[in-house]
Amino acid sequence: MSIIDYFARNIVPKMYRGKGAFHPAATGVLDFGVKCIREYDVNIFFIQEDRHLIAIDAGYRNYSKIMEKCNRIGINPANVTELFLTHVDPDHAGGLDCRYDSPFKNAKIYLGKLEENYLTNTWHRKKIGPIGLKNPVKIQNNYRLLEDGESVMLDDLKITSLLVPGHTLGHSAYIINDNLLFTGDSLALNDTGGYCFFDIFNLDSDLNKKSLEILKERINDYDIKAVFTSHNGWTKNVQHAFAHIDTIPTLSKEYPFDKTAPYDCFENP
Ligand SMILES: [Zn+2]
Repeated sequence: MSIIDYFARNIVPKMYRGKGAFHPAATGVLDFGVKCIREYDVNIFFIQEDRHLIAIDAGYRNYSKIMEKCNRIGINPANVTELFLTHVDPDHAGGLDCRYDSPFKNAKIYLGKLEENYLTNTWHRKKIGPIGLKNPVKIQNNYRLLEDGESVMLDDLKITSLLVPGHTLGHSAYIINDNLLFTGDSLALNDTGGYCFFDIFNLDSDLNKKSLEILKERINDYDIKAVFTSHNGWTKNVQHAFAHIDTIPTLSKEYPFDKTAPYDCFENP
């Protein structure tokens, strides 16, 4: 097991218990035609439009309850036609790891152009002193890379990729049909609004804050109706989602980030 995998599976769950950092949406049907499943602390989102079933992110690798949870929302992951990765961390791209059976075996994969550098290990995911840690996810290289601002048209579905570097340097947000914004791990959200994502997981938090300022400006060109995060649920209040983007949340048991979050997401998968 790589150090990053070990950190994600063993350290994060213990370190973050009771601090309210993660509060993903429960597996179910949301609004605006969006469905989701919850895998521990993270969501995979699905949108169906005629011949296309798209997914945003792929969750953890070898996640044992994926079929059961997809069943509950009437989705067969093998029917996902296109899958858009916000970034390639193990909780978002692990489900595509080619050393395991992928539940999304028929999906065409899209990701931001710069994010590929973590798949090829050209860039390290994290540096601890002199040691550079590699991203542990391996996926087939028949994916398609997206430029910043590029839109993909799939019949009546329009998916626009926006580069939001900081959590990783190639992290993308996606806008579906000009009105649903998926922010991945750029944004943390609680009942007081959206914040810069938690510092410990970011490659460069200052860059993430700048990217969120730019994203806030860029979405003025769209009619955004809802904002979906990967680890903190979603909101229809778009202004609220950008309320504290210049602030990095501090996490403690005394002051949990989200008081309504599960004590430990990993205890109840
Ligand atoms: Zn994540």
